[in-house]
Amino acid sequence: AADARAEAARAYELDRAHVFHSWSAQAEISPMTITASAGSYVWDGDGKRLLDFSSQMVNTNIGHQHPKVVEAIAAQAAKLCTVAPHHANDARSEAARLITTHTPAGLDKVFFTNGGADAVEHAVRMAKLHTGRPKVLSRYRSYHGGTDTAVALTGDPRRWATDSGTRGVVHFFGPFLYRSQFHAETQQQECERALAHLEQVVAMEGSGTIAAIILESVPGTAGIMVPPPGYLTGVREICDRHGIVFIADEVMAGFGRTGRWFAFEHGDVTPDLITFAKGVNSGYVPLGGVVINTAIAETFAHRAYPGGLTYSGHPLATAAAVATIRAMEDEQIVENAATIGAEVIGPGLRELADRHPSVGEVRGVGVFWAVELVADRATREPLAPYGSSSPAMTETIAACKSAGLLPFANYNRIHVVPPCTVTADEARAGLEILDRALDVADRHVTG
Ligand code: PLP
Repeated sequence: AADARAEAARAYELDRAHVFHSWSAQAEISPMTITASAGSYVWDGDGKRLLDFSSQMVNTNIGHQHPKVVEAIAAQAAKLCTVAPHHANDARSEAARLITTHTPAGLDKVFFTNGGADAVEHAVRMAKLHTGRPKVLSRYRSYHGGTDTAVALTGDPRRWATDSGTRGVVHFFGPFLYRSQFHAETQQQECERALAHLEQVVAMEGSGTIAAIILESVPGTAGIMVPPPGYLTGVREICDRHGIVFIADEVMAGFGRTGRWFAFEHGDVTPDLITFAKGVNSGYVPLGGVVINTAIAETFAHRAYPGGLTYSGHPLATAAAVATIRAMEDEQIVENAATIGAEVIGPGLRELADRHPSVGEVRGVGVFWAVELVADRATREPLAPYGSSSPAMTETIAACKSAGLLPFANYNRIHVVPPCTVTADEARAGLEILDRALDVADRHVTG
């Protein structure tokens, strides 16, 4: 144990000396060292076990160190570590086949990338070339990735500092009843008004100039706003009427997170392009991609697609995807996410919302839930300002961690996003810790 602690201390020291971290002021961070993981748990540098209610970056959908996936990666490494993208390879071919067994009919070609942002970049490029149109519409309150186009499409404060003003990106408001832009009081009003607003944006921008509308089927990092019934079909209908490509960004919501293979299934729609990453292989090896429908694939049947990556469909990553998808099927992992959400997390969070004045709203589906914390329930003033943190949030998160729970936090929200494999007992244990941490948040309620 003393050796392990010394090793962890060294890792931390070297990190601070040499590692430059994402989205951070480098001198102001103190990263938690993670030395081991298994199932729903991770261990920190002091050997302390934490229940991982973050799934890291909401990606370890099958939990940590799933033995079948670990074994598949090792077997693939022994057989063939790498291959150029222009060759055919069994791991890549089988991953593409398996992925498309879970997508709607007509979406059966896969372009592999290294992660989510580049999947978004390529989906947008395909849509622009397919339609010959220059613009893309995306939501405020969204996250699509950190590269140039993906961050410009992103509708959250991370765009502000980095947006180079990518031409052709236009934002609109999606449905979010708790903080309605449309003065709506019911989900139905919110849905109708959000669709009317989108229709207006399309008209004002000129429908013939719009290549694509990109949407997270359930927006993730931006707040897990499950769309009201009818919203996604309404977007599909607008796209159809105007010849606009519908891109469903399933990077976070896909592969079981919402209790379905893809989150757009809840809305009963078929997108034209699907971007995926994270859950496709639980992030064990970096992988993302775009699933492409027949019409768009046809555009590039006799015209070269202008884009590619050295590691497109990397054997280690796609072998991990094959093992992940098989494990998800064999072990009914998607079904487990649906059941735990409906029977444990949903009811448990609603109960916390009843008792804690700091909870403004809880919302979600499957193992994809947001707890929206407020300083005042009447005014709905967030417990941290949009795009920032607050002592109240920092203390609440620290209370979770010190009691053995690793949450996913964003501004004034705590997201409950454990692996899809989480058991009912683990979920209950996590909610109990959250219950106590919310006492800390309650002390900051002013209203
Ligand atoms: N799209 C969505 C919906 C995401 O949640 C993310 C990452 O969180 C991305 C795209 C970007 O993915 P990556 O970080 O793998 O580039």
